[in-house]
Amino acid sequence: MSEQEILDAAARREAVLAAMAKAAKLAGRESGNVALIAVSKTHEAAAIRPLIAAGQRVFGENRVQEAEVKWPGLRAEMPPIELHLVGQLQSNKAEDAVALFDAIHSVDRPSLVAALAKAMDKAGRRPDCFIQVNIGDEPQKGGCAITELPGLLAEARSATLPVVGLMCVPPIDVEPAPYFALLARIARDHGLAALSMGMSGDFETAVTLGATHVRVGTALFGTRG
Ligand SMILES: *Cc1c(COP(=O)(O)O)cnc(C)c1O
Repeated sequence: MSEQEILDAAARREAVLAAMAKAAKLAGRESGNVALIAVSKTHEAAAIRPLIAAGQRVFGENRVQEAEVKWPGLRAEMPPIELHLVGQLQSNKAEDAVALFDAIHSVDRPSLVAALAKAMDKAGRRPDCFIQVNIGDEPQKGGCAITELPGLLAEARSATLPVVGLMCVPPIDVEPAPYFALLARIARDHGLAALSMGMSGDFETAVTLGATHVRVGTALFGTRG
């Protein structure tokens, strides 16, 4: 890892943090209350190390298997890292996910709630959970329907999953603000404090509308191959 790589990673990170702080200030929020999750999917350890050296400690991956290849080694050689699963999770990977991740953003169906509850009991480890909501009601997207959220949340709570908030990925190529505002309102109605919303193209908008976690890949790592 060269000094130049660390300086470049630090510059990209500072630019994102400055934009987050500006958006928070605009909305009258404390910028320190928003977590930047660096989404490192598809990027190899060599591309991730400079960002860790630049001070980043919270990372996100979208596939359990890919994360299992990269992160145990990186964690062994670098300072403590908080790892978030931001992609869809198959129930048969629940045990692996609970073992590796500190937070899971994609809880979206009763079968997964049951698998995670069982895996957490077995492991004696309880990563924070976000329920993913299909906020634009798109058939191809993960997330529970808005109408299914109350039932799913009740199931998750009775299974003692530590549900901290909601997550969404709004439809692409349309203004995301109404979707972020809707997710924020639904979270408030259900007494949930955390909001995982906003990616490279729209994290500032998400921060102004209450995001507590933004998931940023491209703006930190460059475009994916
Ligand atoms: C890839 C991904 C991101 C990051 O996307 P960028 O546009 O590269 O910032 C955020 N959230 C989820 C769920 C993702 O899969």
